[in-house]
Amino acid sequence: MLSYRHAFHAGNFADVLKHLIQVDILSYLQQKDKPFVYIDTHSGAGLYSFNSEEAEKNAEYETGITRLKARPVAGCEDYLQVVAQVKPEYDRSSISPDSLYPGSPRIAQIMLREQDRAQLFELHPQDHQRLDELMRRDRRITVSKSDGFKGLVAALPPKERRGLVLIDPPYEVKSDYDTVVSTLEKAHRRFATGIYALWYPVVDRARIEQMVQGLKKTGIPRIQLFELGLSADTEGRGMTSSGMIVINPPWTLKNKMDELLPQLAERLGGEQGVWKSEELAGE
Ligand code: SAM
Repeated sequence: MLSYRHAFHAGNFADVLKHLIQVDILSYLQQKDKPFVYIDTHSGAGLYSFNSEEAEKNAEYETGITRLKARPVAGCEDYLQVVAQVKPEYDRSSISPDSLYPGSPRIAQIMLREQDRAQLFELHPQDHQRLDELMRRDRRITVSKSDGFKGLVAALPPKERRGLVLIDPPYEVKSDYDTVVSTLEKAHRRFATGIYALWYPVVDRARIEQMVQGLKKTGIPRIQLFELGLSADTEGRGMTSSGMIVINPPWTLKNKMDELLPQLAERLGGEQGVWKSEELAGE
């Protein structure tokens, strides 16, 4: 069962948080010349157009990237610059650059250097095909139409011994909430120094608390949690917030997010906007 399509949600407030943190971590990895690897367990199609039927359905990007671009928050420059680099001519498309939004693999591709590489996993046949077409000519990048949870564990430890793993499942299958924890535990055992970023939706708060408890029980150190939402938690009214859990975060990330999150919550959610920044596990 694969009904989730990221094209309906691209550029929404959840993507803003996820991709802002992704860009921050990749910028941190770029500070040393030594190569790094980027692994994306759930990649999506890689590039989205706000003019597509899917994006137009609920126009979710309007309360995300569109709002942020209209009134940028200081500290989001790197992220906005990466988004602005997705040009139609580069992407061989005839649509206006303002209506394009990069998915996490495209963001990584923009930020990879000659010496770096990426391993991308995507199971949906159509999204896999689009992603494969987008990345085919880039010899630094491999795209696999296979399960990202299993693919990640098999790919570790990477020869570079440094890198970012993004885990961004659709949580359509409720077992994903447990699978992310067991996968992180296995992955961390093989590659303890890697940076891991796990995205999650806040639809049912109890489920998230259970997932966080599960993660704490693994004993993995150095874990931080960041959340951004358009309104407070509700019961059964869809996603109000989303979060990113980061293992081995850059040492500057928490301070940066502590400054940014209140402003982003206000910018995207107005008076209803909510945010969270917590340390789940220390050294
Ligand atoms: N990371 C993307 C981004 O930020 O642009 C969005 C990814 S989307 C939330 C989740 C994707 O995971 C969907 O495209 C879905 O088809 C894919 N998917 C679902 N289960 C998967 C699995 N077990 N392995 C790999 N991909 C999977």
